[in-house]
Amino acid sequence: MKDHVLIFDTTLRDGEQALPASLSVGQKIRIARQLAQLKVDVIEAGFPISSPGDFISVETIAKEIRGPIICGLARAVEKDILSCAAALRRAKRPRIHTFLGTSTIHREKKLRRSQDEILAMVAHSVKLARSKCGDVEFSAEDAGRTERDFLCKVVETAIGNGARTVNIPDTVGYTTPEIFASIIDDLMNRVPNIDKAVISVHCHNDLGLATSNSITAVKHGARQVECTINGIGERAGNAALEEVVMIMNVRRDYLGVTCGVETTEIMRTSKLVRDVCSMPVQANKAVVGSNAFAHSSGIHQDGVLKFKSTYEIMTPQSVGLLENKMNLTSRSGSHMVKTRLASLGYDDKSIDLPAFHAKFKALADKKGTVYDDDLVVLMEADTVEEMADTYRLTYLNVTGGMGIIPTATVRIASDGKSQQEAASGDGVVDATTRAIDRVVGLAIKVKDYHLDAVSEGREALGRVKIVAVAPEGTFTGVGTSTDIVEASAKAYMDVVNKICRMRKYAPKLRGKRARASL
Ligand SMILES: [Zn+2]
Repeated sequence: MKDHVLIFDTTLRDGEQALPASLSVGQKIRIARQLAQLKVDVIEAGFPISSPGDFISVETIAKEIRGPIICGLARAVEKDILSCAAALRRAKRPRIHTFLGTSTIHREKKLRRSQDEILAMVAHSVKLARSKCGDVEFSAEDAGRTERDFLCKVVETAIGNGARTVNIPDTVGYTTPEIFASIIDDLMNRVPNIDKAVISVHCHNDLGLATSNSITAVKHGARQVECTINGIGERAGNAALEEVVMIMNVRRDYLGVTCGVETTEIMRTSKLVRDVCSMPVQANKAVVGSNAFAHSSGIHQDGVLKFKSTYEIMTPQSVGLLENKMNLTSRSGSHMVKTRLASLGYDDKSIDLPAFHAKFKALADKKGTVYDDDLVVLMEADTVEEMADTYRLTYLNVTGGMGIIPTATVRIASDGKSQQEAASGDGVVDATTRAIDRVVGLAIKVKDYHLDAVSEGREALGRVKIVAVAPEGTFTGVGTSTDIVEASAKAYMDVVNKICRMRKYAPKLRGKRARASL
């Protein structure tokens, strides 16, 4: 497999740790399932020692997802490696990924260890990991700023002790393509046992070079690329999977390598990650931005289809962008809805079609035409709740306008009882959250409020995202409705229920979690 490049997805580890609030186990499973559909080679599911929540996520993904290798991250210390091995126990194809800082700045300022001590730690941790798992990856953290001779020794030691993959991360996004190429060349030429392992790269985008650096490394012999969907990740993010994969596909003539990713699943994965993580994708983002293929309709209209390749280096279909604009309305039967869902990737046998169709009809009656995005939102709303909500909003009435004090009345059901409260505020949304506060009695402070239209038309679904701080931590709540006050109320209720869930199910999850600076 000399010309095959492995795609290592770290959306659930590097990507997730950069989000303002952690994803739930259920949300991570949904993304992991889609990553398996996308046919990535490795899913880095999390950093098990960092928090009980992360441990459970890795454990659940290891148990439920089949196909890709399931990888967990561990610092080069015993307790991390043992915790990682335990979380991966049920995986069919587990991988332990252990890492250690190797640059001068990491050695002297962070670890306070000499070069020899670092080499001993590498040997010990890789050996320990290998005793627990046949597939071990070692990362030389901050490799981009590590002295070349020493980096060669580190890589040789890791491979000598059983690492099958050695990762060269540009942790701080500092390198440039030529410099990175020379690092890979040096490793290829100077590490005597280099043929016993796959060289991997993990690039950050602080200077906008993550994709360029990754692709250059591939040209120089790296055979695994670590990346994330939509390029999400620490600070400016990681190399974007969709870019790396499409470069390999579109420029196979130049790179001469292949990868196993099912490119027609790219768009669906991108949208799922965008929605689950509440991280919007910029319109001009390569491959997955809403404008990335905007010219194609222009070409279509001008009737110059025969010159398509002049303008198109890849087709929208190749990344799974559906051009099907078949309109769904309240007259659409359940079979048609099912067909549409299947084309959006929802062919899971677990869908309760009659129940979903009833929800669909309710939306269609309100909205007229139901677009693909509406279906996705409805679908996600159908499956997003992994645990029952403590509170349910059953009634909302607001009054506002010029010269009227904004007031809201809410009725909230909980434990078979219903409670009603009213409040005034600076605008109807503020009045609504105050009225909800009076019922639930939690100390919630809204830090960020964001409103997006998620589908087309005047009756488009509005999606409100609220980031809120409570003594239990930071929470993100999302609500969708054709009415923005209702969407805001739902988003706020989402926060309320997440806080209740946190109190009820995982008191241990409170407090800070460790972060990996890979
Ligand atoms: Zn990273």
